[in-house]
Amino acid sequence: MVAAWLSCHGCGGRFDPMSTLALACPRAVPGDGIDHVLEPVIEGRRWPLGDQDNPFLRYRSLSLAATMLDDERLSTVIEELDLAVQQVDGRGFRVTPWAWSSSLSCMVKDETGNVAGSHKGRHLFGLMVYLRALELRGRLPSRPPLAIASCGNAALAAAVVARAACWPLQVFVPTDADPAVLDRLATLDAQVQTCPRAPDQPGDPAVHALRQALAAGALPFTVQGDACGISVEGGRTLAWELCDQGELPDVLYVQVGGGALASAVWQGLRDARDLGRISHLPRLVLVQTDNAHPLARAWRRLEGRDLTLAARDRARFMWPWEQPPHSVAHGILDDETYDWWACCEGLRATGGEVVLVDEQTLVAARDEARAAGFSASATGTASLAGLRAHPPPAGQRAGVLVTGRG
Ligand SMILES: [Zn+2]
Repeated sequence: MVAAWLSCHGCGGRFDPMSTLALACPRAVPGDGIDHVLEPVIEGRRWPLGDQDNPFLRYRSLSLAATMLDDERLSTVIEELDLAVQQVDGRGFRVTPWAWSSSLSCMVKDETGNVAGSHKGRHLFGLMVYLRALELRGRLPSRPPLAIASCGNAALAAAVVARAACWPLQVFVPTDADPAVLDRLATLDAQVQTCPRAPDQPGDPAVHALRQALAAGALPFTVQGDACGISVEGGRTLAWELCDQGELPDVLYVQVGGGALASAVWQGLRDARDLGRISHLPRLVLVQTDNAHPLARAWRRLEGRDLTLAARDRARFMWPWEQPPHSVAHGILDDETYDWWACCEGLRATGGEVVLVDEQTLVAARDEARAAGFSASATGTASLAGLRAHPPPAGQRAGVLVTGRG
């Protein structure tokens, strides 16, 4: 018997995934100091044994949508949506390569060939499948606009998936957004709004604008877990793939900005262990830049403290980075690590740590990856920078995630 619910680690609430549009915790009250983030929990599942090349088809039984639609209908939703994504972006979702790179002397998960050129589409495609399931079950009678705050890959991925689903999308971007990204967003019919920093308001102005749009009725189509916990679920496909692609490394390096990728990887590995697919977890090493590292700060402050209690005292661990951050790895410069709590849970469970890298190492890692044939950005190769700056003990195998096209 399969049972599914959405669990909030902040307030301890449990919510029916079909009773409400519970993309964010319904009990969250601005300023209550609690780290409300919803996480899908499904009991009674088995590790899927399919061999489909589309990860959303292969692992569909592990998704919330599988508890809302029968298998045939869910498969049709995924196939139709993936076909529409192919028409918009020229490619659909396929299992991405995971292989030993002799040039880099580590395992590499290569996401640069994924939809919209990064792993971000995984988060948003999974969320779209969930929204379609709500629609088909009659829980979403109209289509409010979708909204996201992002300056790069997440916005591109959101625009591709929203366009494929014929769903309007608002994108809130900072003033220094890449003109090439803005052009592509325009061709995908996204409504883009530029958000300047206000001197008296800490934190990312695009995220503030997103929150206003959500308050006005837009649906979060974004990868910040506090705004949309469901978006982390689709990202788990990356870790589920790893677990079916051969031996895991001893140490897995993951770059962290807002934290959705790292929390998705952690939760996906945990799923695979709990369902008997893997017997041990790799040690997670999470990578941030010298110039902005709110997760490293939170991890240090956490020390031996109780995680459950920490979730009820968020401001003690996580707050916006004080100075507007700059780095060549600009995709991981989030003012806050929104999914910090799940990152810390993964660090605790795997004996992991947060490491910092300087600009020189970030640039060198990008150039090294490019020379090895990975057409990636410095954000996308930040985990390789982490490996170079903080290698594992001799004899341990390392893996990195190359997550964004250059
Ligand atoms: Zn809550």
